[in-house]
Amino acid sequence: GELTIECDLLVVGGGPGGYVAAIRGAQLGQDVVLVEENVVGGVCLNVGCIPSKALITVANKVDQMGHLKEMGVSVGSLDVDFSQLMRYKDQVVSRLTSGVAQLLKGNGVEVVQGNATFVSANLARIQLAHEVQQVRFKNAIVATGSRPLELPSVPVDHEVVVDSTDALSFSEIPKRLVVVGGGYIGLEIGTAYRKLGSEVTVVEATSQLLGAMDQTLLAPVAKRLKALGVTTLLSTKIVGVSRKGNEVLVSLERDGVAETLQADKVVVAVGRTPNSQSLGLEHLGVALDEKGFIVVDDQRRSSVKSIFAIGDVAGGALLAHKASFEGKVAATVAAGKKDAYDPVAVPAVVFTDPEIASVGLTLSEAGRLGYKAKATRFPFAAIGRAVSINETEGFCQVVYDEAAETILGIHLVGPEASDLLGEASVLVEFGATLEDVGRTIHAHPTLAEIFMEAAEVGLGLPVHQL
Ligand code: FAD
Repeated sequence: GELTIECDLLVVGGGPGGYVAAIRGAQLGQDVVLVEENVVGGVCLNVGCIPSKALITVANKVDQMGHLKEMGVSVGSLDVDFSQLMRYKDQVVSRLTSGVAQLLKGNGVEVVQGNATFVSANLARIQLAHEVQQVRFKNAIVATGSRPLELPSVPVDHEVVVDSTDALSFSEIPKRLVVVGGGYIGLEIGTAYRKLGSEVTVVEATSQLLGAMDQTLLAPVAKRLKALGVTTLLSTKIVGVSRKGNEVLVSLERDGVAETLQADKVVVAVGRTPNSQSLGLEHLGVALDEKGFIVVDDQRRSSVKSIFAIGDVAGGALLAHKASFEGKVAATVAAGKKDAYDPVAVPAVVFTDPEIASVGLTLSEAGRLGYKAKATRFPFAAIGRAVSINETEGFCQVVYDEAAETILGIHLVGPEASDLLGEASVLVEFGATLEDVGRTIHAHPTLAEIFMEAAEVGLGLPVHQL
């Protein structure tokens, strides 16, 4: 019969949740098998965070060339070789995924390429290319991630109507691009292609872009989208798409009025759904919520004692760093040690122009939770470094508890907001006060001075603001 391998810990899925869990498990002395049906690195490294940021980086550099003139630099005409750009992006991805493969190997994790399904609470079946294997395990971590949601009215054909994965691997820059969905994935991809020369229309069914974000952060991004010439159609529904040769006709409905757009490509980015079906979890009695996410406790244990779940498949914020953090918790608990998933806050970044970055409570969330909260704001326009790099749009907002002056949340929109969020996350996680930040010497001239300045506004002693 079938070959059966034995292990302490089986990890299903090699994304930022699963591969981190596998490494941590091995570090803690567990015998670990990781099953991945594709390439290790998951969505994030292969078709998500990393390739999208490679594309966005190049698009930003191209865009910034246009601003060099006001700084006294003329460049000749720009020429984007898109296939070279795609090769660059692919090199970035393969460098990182092969790094992950090496880390797994170096830590003694046995990586099996195949599709895993559960037979019982201690046995899984792995479909390999030409055979089937069984794995008997003490504990398993399900880290199977998520996939794009589909809209029945806009069926994806992966040719002209595509998902985010396809949009990161076009063979040429589409002349006319319609993005369905004004969430972060749609806006990031739409902005990047606009900067590379596409005519871009973003169609959003609700009345706002980035519905999940604090809308006060949106103004600089909306302004920039307008300046870039990205058309955004809010409160607009897609009725259907029809293919006409190599182009697509997109039928829209806005306030009861029908409209048609012509496009070369349509990207559907309307959300994601968990990969929790066809894993055999139903035989085990693993509880799912109404959207199909695996229900877990604060140790990331499912309703079945030997089965943990982490990352996108376990719901919450569908973000890579949240998946990795949960992976460490679940692997630690599975190794018999005490741990829990209890972050004060999960940071979130949107790589639009400018970037939006947020950690902790917004003012209204703090109010709802019963805090007597206040917010202070400081603009990048008053930060010397922002002026010198010619990127002065945006601000930092610090939400704090009025009595204790403890920082509850920090929200940024502006230059390098993504990297600035590192300091902000530490401040929120450590429960810093306004005084802690105001009295921390921040190097000059740097963008991070904005935290100190915003804190001093809250303390009533702003030096750089009247
Ligand atoms: P995944 O990364 O989805 O990995 C799951 C893995 O499991 C996959 O490799 C899959 O092949 C494998 N698998 C599934 N079922 C089985 C099975 N039965 N047997 C074997 N293997 C299986 N997040 C951020 O934090 N920052 C960003 O900037 C960001 N940008 C993004 C951009 C895009 C375009 C997209 C689509 C996503 C982005 N994300 C970003 C989200 C991020 O990619 C996910 O949150 C993250 O990948 C989730 O990690 P995971 O480990 O839970 O699952």
